[in-house]
Amino acid sequence: MAGAADIAVETAPLEWDASLWRTAIAQLEQALPHASIDPGTAERLRYPEHATIVSVPIRLDSGETKVFPAYRVQHSRVLGPTKGGVRFDPHVSLSECAALAMWMTWKCALLRLPYGGAKGGIRCNPRELSRGELERMTRRYTAELRGIIGPQEDIPAPDMATDEQTMAWMMDTYSMQVGHATPEIVTGKPISIGGSVFRNEATGAGVVMVIERACQRLGIELAGLRCIVQGFGKVGGIAAHELAGKGAIVTGVGDYSGGVHSGDGLELAAVEQWTAEHGSLGGFPGVSHVTNAELLELPCDVLVLAALEGQVTAANAGRLQARIVAEGANGPTTVEADAVLAERGIPVLPDILTNAGGVTVSYFEWVQDLGRLFWGREDIRTRLAEKMCDAFDRVWELSEQKDLTLRSAALVVGIREVAAALDARGLFP
Ligand code: GLU
Repeated sequence: MAGAADIAVETAPLEWDASLWRTAIAQLEQALPHASIDPGTAERLRYPEHATIVSVPIRLDSGETKVFPAYRVQHSRVLGPTKGGVRFDPHVSLSECAALAMWMTWKCALLRLPYGGAKGGIRCNPRELSRGELERMTRRYTAELRGIIGPQEDIPAPDMATDEQTMAWMMDTYSMQVGHATPEIVTGKPISIGGSVFRNEATGAGVVMVIERACQRLGIELAGLRCIVQGFGKVGGIAAHELAGKGAIVTGVGDYSGGVHSGDGLELAAVEQWTAEHGSLGGFPGVSHVTNAELLELPCDVLVLAALEGQVTAANAGRLQARIVAEGANGPTTVEADAVLAERGIPVLPDILTNAGGVTVSYFEWVQDLGRLFWGREDIRTRLAEKMCDAFDRVWELSEQKDLTLRSAALVVGIREVAAALDARGLFP
């Protein structure tokens, strides 16, 4: 008979159990019955392999010392080193990193990249930190992860509020520790130290490659479609630009300050210039201003979610007026919202497929760094389009064949790749 202590262990929540983690697990559980994999293998997929918590102390400009909680979670190392971004955000937690690391595993496997998933971050408000403080925080975080990250172990990249500069500091810190320049330790770094051309644009460009492929399959012409893009940063800003380049009309964009909308289409160059000068969309003249919540509910053909997680929920999914939803961010749609959108016949182009352009060009960057041989922009764009379209087609076919949503199909495709590797290698010892 089980004693009280055993029962307590059985029912205790996992250390990383919280809302985003539950979304990731619910998606996995929905996909597993369609993946036909061994139950023992499935059990291994439910847990991150490694989770690290570090405390990052820095001297603030004021002279005070402050400690920031920081994390790095590695979900699966069966296919190769782990890969995933580092984010600076007030919501960063072990559970958020665990969920995002699991999604990175499916994303890398779906794109057939020889990686497992990881994610890390520092819980901080990056807007309140000076450049010097950000540099000290990034360098100390990197130093604390010695032995955890490495070119054959785990390769960080940019994510929310981190960029080329952050990666340059990480690369330099790691290189100083090991005693030689090691560009292959991070991706998304400046070109001058081994970064790849087209990495900056890759996520946003990949989002539009997937939207274009989906339009072809749905028999819709992308040119002339009215698009709204939530998020006007590294992903949304580029996606808006690429959509306009394909002849679509970007009628609304949003950032942390709110959204702007114009039925005739926005002049993107003017919007970009405004945000570069003023730091946000607030006050941009000659358009209607809406809240972020209102922006999502405006009528459009394509709604691109390229901001934060948990944006479309059971509360607003019924009010969306888009024909297609494309996930540029990780986890912007909750499980309940997915069900509402599926019921309403609105296809959701899922994050692990749609925003995979970033990690795919990260892979190209790492391969170039390891080979010390660099490729041209057009070559990379073409290789990215091939990989994105190939993944899209595998997802689309499975979704038709098994009558699954695109999300479930994408998960099943990714999960099967990881499961095949786990089965082939077996369980150690
Ligand atoms: N942070 C990005 C993502 O969520 C990119 C990760 C990478 O390039 O390793 O996919």
